[in-house]
Amino acid sequence: MHDGATDTAKQIDGEALRVAMAHSLRYAIGKDPVTATLSDWRLALTRAVRDLVVDPWFAATRRAYAEKRKRVYYLSMEFLIGRLLEDAIHNLGLEAAAREAVAAHGVDYAALVDDEPDAALGNGGLGRLAACFLDSMSTVGVAAHGYGIRYEHGLFRQRFDQGWQGEEPEDWLRQRHAWEFERSEVAYPIGFGGEVSPGEGDGALWTPSDTVLAAAYDTPIPGWRGRWTNTLRLWDAQPVREFDLEPFNRGDYMAAAAPSVFAETISRVLYPDDTTPQGKELRLKQEYFFTAASLADILRRHRAMGLEPRSLAAHAAIQLNDTHPAIAGPELVRLLVDDHGLDFDEAFDVASATLNYTNHTLMPEALERWSTDLMGHALPRHMQIIERIDTRHARETKRPDSVRIVDNGEVRMGDLAFISAHRVNGVSALHTDLMKQTVFAELHALHPEKIVNQTNGVTPRRWLYGCNAGMRRLLTETLGSEEWAADLDRIAALAPLAEDAAFRERFQAIKTDNKRACAAWLEREHGVSVDPTAMFDIQIKRIHEYKRQLMNALETAALYNAIKADPSAEFAPRVKIFGGKAAPGYAMAKLIIKLINDIAATINADPAMKGRLAVAYPANYNVSMAEILIPAADLSEQISTAGKEASGTGNMKFAMNGALTVGTLDGANVEIRDAVGEENIFIFGQTAAEVLATRANGYAPQSFIDADPRLAQVVEQIEAGFFSGGDGERFRAVTENLRGHDWFQVCADFTSYYDRQRVVDDAWAKPEEWTRKAVLNAAGMGVFSSDRTIRGYAAEVWGVTPAC
Ligand SMILES: *Cc1c(COP(=O)(O)O)cnc(C)c1O
Repeated sequence: MHDGATDTAKQIDGEALRVAMAHSLRYAIGKDPVTATLSDWRLALTRAVRDLVVDPWFAATRRAYAEKRKRVYYLSMEFLIGRLLEDAIHNLGLEAAAREAVAAHGVDYAALVDDEPDAALGNGGLGRLAACFLDSMSTVGVAAHGYGIRYEHGLFRQRFDQGWQGEEPEDWLRQRHAWEFERSEVAYPIGFGGEVSPGEGDGALWTPSDTVLAAAYDTPIPGWRGRWTNTLRLWDAQPVREFDLEPFNRGDYMAAAAPSVFAETISRVLYPDDTTPQGKELRLKQEYFFTAASLADILRRHRAMGLEPRSLAAHAAIQLNDTHPAIAGPELVRLLVDDHGLDFDEAFDVASATLNYTNHTLMPEALERWSTDLMGHALPRHMQIIERIDTRHARETKRPDSVRIVDNGEVRMGDLAFISAHRVNGVSALHTDLMKQTVFAELHALHPEKIVNQTNGVTPRRWLYGCNAGMRRLLTETLGSEEWAADLDRIAALAPLAEDAAFRERFQAIKTDNKRACAAWLEREHGVSVDPTAMFDIQIKRIHEYKRQLMNALETAALYNAIKADPSAEFAPRVKIFGGKAAPGYAMAKLIIKLINDIAATINADPAMKGRLAVAYPANYNVSMAEILIPAADLSEQISTAGKEASGTGNMKFAMNGALTVGTLDGANVEIRDAVGEENIFIFGQTAAEVLATRANGYAPQSFIDADPRLAQVVEQIEAGFFSGGDGERFRAVTENLRGHDWFQVCADFTSYYDRQRVVDDAWAKPEEWTRKAVLNAAGMGVFSSDRTIRGYAAEVWGVTPAC
């Protein structure tokens, strides 16, 4: 598709980059090569590469203005971007030059790249989606800004203390963030609290009691070959005044510093989701802070182009990534009414033509609600506007009592986002259907045109080209150029090669190499030694009951029992790998982590398991760890309770790298099955409809435990302290839940899961057949490129035409 397109990235050879690096080291970093540390060299290369991004970045900006392109604004509380240096080097086609330049300075390239902190400004899939979308918007040429918060501390660093999760603050900004440009001239005052008095017409005068400044930091995001470059703008909260001079002069230094303490708290930490009321008010303030700053910036840019606020929707599309920025509806109305003199109805029409909302979860406890007291106190003017939006919607739909945004003393942010949006999208076909049937059933009946589906995707630049050098070379050679990285549909050409024994052998050799590298890393960094010829069976994602790491742990223990009971039985040798963090306040998830580690310790200490079964749980799962594990996976665990995982994106990354999936018909697994063929994926368990029926018919997990002696044995072992040095109390909450409510129906699906895993064993015993399936999995993944997703949003949600 892109062959022949102009690549705006400046071509530069290794020698030129070496000189540029030396120059940056000296004049940007201020270091002499003689004393430079690895980090200094990394910063020097980063600056040299960043310099090469600037021209394509300006070119894209100029083109967006010249062609009067409609702009897309992606508002997200989270951007799980990980490391940026290698990604930029790959996108700009600079790898050979960078390797040469770094080597010429006597520095190890892999170590240098590895030195970059992993920017963990997100929790999991939602934040990583935002990061993949940034890369894809730049690659397909959608003129876009990502807007978020420049958290001083991203997601906590996880460690294990005797198998229990411990949390340490993450400190990605300890070294300077060499990618960003500080824009001290771009800063907006953001108010909180205070009083509202009536103004003219529909307007009001809001006098906040507290004000902070939102200051912009820009990171350029170059797309493939620099054909387009966008901006990630992150807001830092700063005091309007650094300190109060009067208390300072009195010697009261604490009081003098109070203004900066309040302000800086707002962008201090990323909240792990799933946590309870603590910090609720601060979280609401964070959401308003970045949303208000972004909207102020969007309106400023719109007016700078000489355009009227009334025409905003023709020139801008704003995407709300989940409900976190849902205050955008009321805030945009406020700006248009109070600052620009529109009447309320006109303003709401502009807002609801500009905003779009992506829903990420159907779980009622995860849909945000704020008490009207808190909202009225923190954002009094917005509370008035929310009530007015609610009244207008009830009047227009002639449903005064059903679907109210303000209900039972709470503001329902999902409903607010839906009603304020032009389009509302789910993130997989199944999830979108369920959205229509459940959380938004009534709103969907009133607005049948609003809900559309845009199945998630992942960027093949990071998740294939970047993380799997072996596959990259094979694909490039097989497909004739590197353009597959920007046009993943080309990977379909692998399908016929699945029948070619020589090709299969090369494909498998790459997997084996990746597994060896992964095994060496596990040994070096985490002290576990595993057999790289065994099947690598991997489940990596946030620890949550609905994702059912517990079911995997129980199956692992049951397999252990089965091998012990019959040492001659033919089970595939396996390395089970777990990775993931639990939200610090989520006790059950933390207990499941400890159980996995206890089971791992028992199995790994048993000499009878040598070469048969091992369990590894490397601490502190993040993007960089995913980049090591995913290319090494044979089996991808996607085993959530059907109906609970909106899409999943880990599932796509694995299949792209030639892993087979064992999974339920949940989220995008359904579409992965359709893309790879049902004979090439291991589906098990209840469907979403069956899960609901089981619950409705009075689910009794104990009857499933009684029916499967393998499950019964493991539950009894846990209760007897078999995996925990005789401590029968430790996992009581886990086993009581299994025998009691078992909300996520682990017991109902266990038998089907265990039996399916034995079918996986049989498939593993036929390596040629396994590899054939693996090739067909990779070949079917074109549709899961986030470039496809972004083109879908462009056409069906934003109304923009991509430039590339
Ligand atoms: C892709 C990714 C996720 C999302 O994984 P799921 O399996 O879809 O939940 C979470 N965290 C990281 C670091 C990722 O790269």
